[in-house]
Amino acid sequence: MPIDPDFPRNHQAIGKIKHADGEHYHYFWGPGQLKEAAENEEVKAAYEHRGEEIVPIGVSGTMVAVDWDSCVADGACIEACPVQVFQWYRTEHDIPAKEVINQTFAGTGSSVKEERKDYTDKADAVREHDCIWCMACVSVCPPQAVKVDQSNLEFHEKASGTYNEALAKGSAPPPHAH
Ligand code: SF4
Repeated sequence: MPIDPDFPRNHQAIGKIKHADGEHYHYFWGPGQLKEAAENEEVKAAYEHRGEEIVPIGVSGTMVAVDWDSCVADGACIEACPVQVFQWYRTEHDIPAKEVINQTFAGTGSSVKEERKDYTDKADAVREHDCIWCMACVSVCPPQAVKVDQSNLEFHEKASGTYNEALAKGSAPPPHAH
């Protein structure tokens, strides 16, 4: 099942993945549900090899979002992205996917398609803030786990408590206007 196009409406922000720059972070949306990853033979074998269970995880990112329950660690998005928004999270912190929530990542992991740690790895938009909205990552994903939508900034801001409804609707001048 592809990523739910309305995932920010149908899910809750269940935590963040923080960037080590201290400024940026992207949200994690849940609850997840078992999808393609739980049915993929390579993914199942990799989890079994590690002795880890496949559990529902959720969606990582808001404007650049990857449904980790769909992601089968193909890496097409990683290869397609011209500005290295994604990394293989396990090449930076080799921990179970559920445990990434509220962790800090520096973006020092691999952004090379074939450098996944193994098929338990997931593409993570650690540099979501660098996205140039080219959409190259969206159509190449085999299970259609990726959704890019700049207007989802609204949901990021609502989760952050920085959303200004009047400003967003254009009915109020920007705070710095005279
Ligand atoms: S839309 Fe383009 S720039 Fe943004 S994450 Fe996808 S491939 Fe990278």
